[in-house]
Amino acid sequence: MKKLVNNNLKTRKDMEIYCDNAATTALDPEVLNAMIPYLTNQYGNASSNHIFGRKAKEAVEESRLTVAKLFNVSPNDIFFTSGATEANNLAIAGAVRTFEVQHAITSRIEHKAVLQTLGQFSQEGELEVSFVQLDTKGNIDFEHLENLLKYNPQTLVSLMHVNNEIGNINDIRQIGYLVKKYDGLFHTDTTQSIGKYKFDISLLNVDYLVGSAHKFHGPKGVGFIYIDKYKRVKPHTYGGAQERGTRGGTENVAGIVGLAKALEVAYRGLEEYRNHIAYLKSYLIEQLKNSPIPDISFNGASESETASSYNIVNVAFPHLRKGGPLLDKLDKLDIAVSGGSACSNLTSAGSHVLKALQQNLDKDNIRFSFSKFNTPYEIKVIIDTIRAIYEEDRLPKNVTPLATPLLATA
Ligand code: PMP
Repeated sequence: MKKLVNNNLKTRKDMEIYCDNAATTALDPEVLNAMIPYLTNQYGNASSNHIFGRKAKEAVEESRLTVAKLFNVSPNDIFFTSGATEANNLAIAGAVRTFEVQHAITSRIEHKAVLQTLGQFSQEGELEVSFVQLDTKGNIDFEHLENLLKYNPQTLVSLMHVNNEIGNINDIRQIGYLVKKYDGLFHTDTTQSIGKYKFDISLLNVDYLVGSAHKFHGPKGVGFIYIDKYKRVKPHTYGGAQERGTRGGTENVAGIVGLAKALEVAYRGLEEYRNHIAYLKSYLIEQLKNSPIPDISFNGASESETASSYNIVNVAFPHLRKGGPLLDKLDKLDIAVSGGSACSNLTSAGSHVLKALQQNLDKDNIRFSFSKFNTPYEIKVIIDTIRAIYEEDRLPKNVTPLATPLLATA
């Protein structure tokens, strides 16, 4: 009978399930269509003074206008980059080098693109970095933030909107208000929320805000940064005069067109996608809570409908008694989820976010992140698979398990 359960688990093999959309998303076919001309016959260099170049330039500027309109800012404030890592670097390095900022405030659960950049300046003795206190769910202690600001005027504050591992949402409007009260600079990493939440940047008191197309069904290798017109920074890469001299290098025309189209599509269908994805998240949470798997809990605020993004949930599962990490078992069954961020998979250090929260470090922590392309059926398959894995795992060696009929259903 043990074999039967294994067979049932094996039947899953005919279907790959992707629930790692905080790492990256599938390219939307509409986005691909918009990009194709710029990958084929419209291949001009946007800086060239001929028909091919002018068409490419036109496409870049139209895309800039689309992005700017969606966020209610001037197109002059939007600069295209290779992604959010570069945009975060540009903001932080730019603020330090242009405004001679000597102190920064951040939190220990920021993305590595922020923490490592700040850390580098700190190591080089150019910047002192303070960390705002967080509670065990990852919520910012605003009183502590205000105290830090009070004693460190003209600080650079770098705090993200949505956390990529646990989905926590920071109130960036409130942070912006505090930063300006104490005459600081505000950089926010909005990589996980662009395309998922509406932004009117003009109301936000933010100086630098970033996005990356591949997180909202656009192509990889292209992103943008919004830079407030009074907080322009020294060039980030030296070379040509592209991006008004702030970021030299031939523009990724097809990527930029794809980024703008992906944003347009994301905001056009925002309500519908949001309802669909939020349903998937709540369905997974409810089913896990009602499952016989013992000791399940949720990391950060990810169980909450309001304090956490509607597309991310981070679950702490008990270790399996045999057979290694749950993540590996799911991977073998072609269920793609994550143990943390894709970037932290490149190191053996584990999740710096969960470590900072001192939460569930001795658990199998799994991040599920959904997109508009996921279906309730996929979530059902995930839940049934996890249940079957634990049922099999928890049985004493000599007891034969019942087959799990759920797995066999179509
Ligand atoms: N910040 C956050 C919050 C992210 O989730 C990511 C992607 N993992 C990045 C920055 C880096 O983005 P990119 O892949 O565009 O460099």
